[in-house]
Amino acid sequence: MKFDTFSEYLARMETISGRLELASQLASLLRELSPSETPPALYMVQGQLYPPFVGAPMGMASRLLLRAMEKALEESGKDPALRSRLGDLLAESGDPGILAERLNMGTGMGKMGLGEIHAALLVIAKQAGSGSQEEKISRLADLFLSLSPLSARYLARFVMGRLRLGVGDSTIVDALARTLIETPLEDTVGWKAEMKAVRQKVEDAYNLCSDLGRVGEMLRKEGLVGLDHIRPSVGFPIRMALCERLGSGAEIIEKLGKAAVESKYDGFRCQIHCDGTSVRIFSRNLEETTGMFPELAREARALLGRRTAIFEGEALGYDAENDSYHPFQVTITRKRKHNILEKSEEIPLKCLVFDLLFLDGEAVMDQPFSERRRRLESLFPAHRRKLSEREVPPEHVFGASRLIVTSDPHEVDLFFDEVVEEGFEGIIAKRLDGVYTAGSRNFNWIKLKRSYKGALSDTVDLVLIGYYRGKGLRTKLGIGAVLGAVFDPATGEFLSIARIGSGLTEEKWKELREMLDELRTNGPLQGVRSGLVPDFWVVPKYVVTVLADELTRSPVHMAGRTEGEEEGYALRFPRMVSGPREDKGPEDATTVTEIKRLFDLQRQRGLRE
Ligand code: AMP
Repeated sequence: MKFDTFSEYLARMETISGRLELASQLASLLRELSPSETPPALYMVQGQLYPPFVGAPMGMASRLLLRAMEKALEESGKDPALRSRLGDLLAESGDPGILAERLNMGTGMGKMGLGEIHAALLVIAKQAGSGSQEEKISRLADLFLSLSPLSARYLARFVMGRLRLGVGDSTIVDALARTLIETPLEDTVGWKAEMKAVRQKVEDAYNLCSDLGRVGEMLRKEGLVGLDHIRPSVGFPIRMALCERLGSGAEIIEKLGKAAVESKYDGFRCQIHCDGTSVRIFSRNLEETTGMFPELAREARALLGRRTAIFEGEALGYDAENDSYHPFQVTITRKRKHNILEKSEEIPLKCLVFDLLFLDGEAVMDQPFSERRRRLESLFPAHRRKLSEREVPPEHVFGASRLIVTSDPHEVDLFFDEVVEEGFEGIIAKRLDGVYTAGSRNFNWIKLKRSYKGALSDTVDLVLIGYYRGKGLRTKLGIGAVLGAVFDPATGEFLSIARIGSGLTEEKWKELREMLDELRTNGPLQGVRSGLVPDFWVVPKYVVTVLADELTRSPVHMAGRTEGEEEGYALRFPRMVSGPREDKGPEDATTVTEIKRLFDLQRQRGLRE
């Protein structure tokens, strides 16, 4: 496919506001692509050059982009006065894409293909070292010269990391599924049924490899059967299993019968991949964190040797002096790009492993939890049987999480109390015969947190979708409150639930405003629905943890509001307990279903009290 044709699709997608229509347009694009063009097209639609877990967005500085434009203008013999005003013009339009389009740099004669542009961008992204900047500028200028103005629009936005089509993973999964549906659209019931079944298969494959490009390529090559080739593999993060919540030990045992119950540790979730020679670690939102946690990589390599494995655990800062773990606020300081070794000596990590997904070339995710745990303990013994012991002996980094197996609700409650007294968040109960359900939240894992026992409040993770100008004392900060939303995985939408104006220090508010300014859009992006209109809309990207007094029904917000209903859910007295969290992406925010569940838990508790 010519890059110009690809750009025409992007232009159409940009004007669409409904998710269904967006998926349908993306499906039309996919149908026109060859199998090998599918991955680059999907990565670029996501604003990336590789699958997002590779973590290499282009994010070129505007200075470089402007110099590339200047060079392209010079080579095409355009007005020199224009060249010297590029900086002002960019400031005026605020959009590198619109500027690039208006400059009319290219001849459009090159007719480069999508694959060629992607390959050229890969070369530009990889260039490093002395002279690399000039080389980048000159290569980018060449691209501008060979593209149409419309293509220049998308190229400029892409290289600056500002494509912002608002196409989430679930829209891409929808679109991929649509390319396979054979039932005619007129047969609404049949179409929906086929779509549901096919979509589930596409999503399952995605959950196993986190690479929509790979899934797309297989589908274009071999259709639905091609997905059978996608198996868990070392090096491709598996989308992580998530927990449901319940309110007491009795409810947990009623739901699971005899269950394994573990401490819920509050640190970094790590999915550790060992390929027999090297180790890679992925965070909960599938970013690679290997470089940040050298002691985990080192010990995993020593322990596993030539074996292949994927396992998961929670890494916590360890306080050797008191032989205890650090709270999350201290552990989080290990998340850094600089001075990693010094910091790892100051706050070493211990990793409490709790699941095994792959071992010696074999995926074990479909085995019952009890069997996975048995095999996990053969790799990482469970040292902690008594309260006085630690999960990990002082000289080691890894140890199996603390766990009891019981069918007695009182024992669950007692274990919960013990764990809370030690300062942990609560417990996670696991269904003994449950499989590891990649990428989904269900009752195979159930959390019971401190906050839902007793106190009314519980934290939720909200995506920021807009912010308000500061008033009064906050005028000087330029921000007075943010608008937070929950995620609806069924529709891919972000639905407003709270306007939050407290919880941060002045300094943190200022930092947050600067971060949000980078994401400002002219209106709500498609998929963002809010009952309130903030002063500035932003791309849903940052997730903050919010504490509130209670959940109420409210006509103001959109969360949980179905068609015909006038009330959604709202948080009463919300306050931020953390600034933007690096470990959660927008689709990891609390979901509408979780909010409904929390609301029910709150109501039941109200009835009991
Ligand atoms: P939450 O983020 O509140 O939904 O809780 C789920 C998180 O708890 C997981 O993503 C893990 O990072 C963490 N966690 C801590 N201890 C465990 C455990 N024993 N088993 C599974 N997850 C755990």
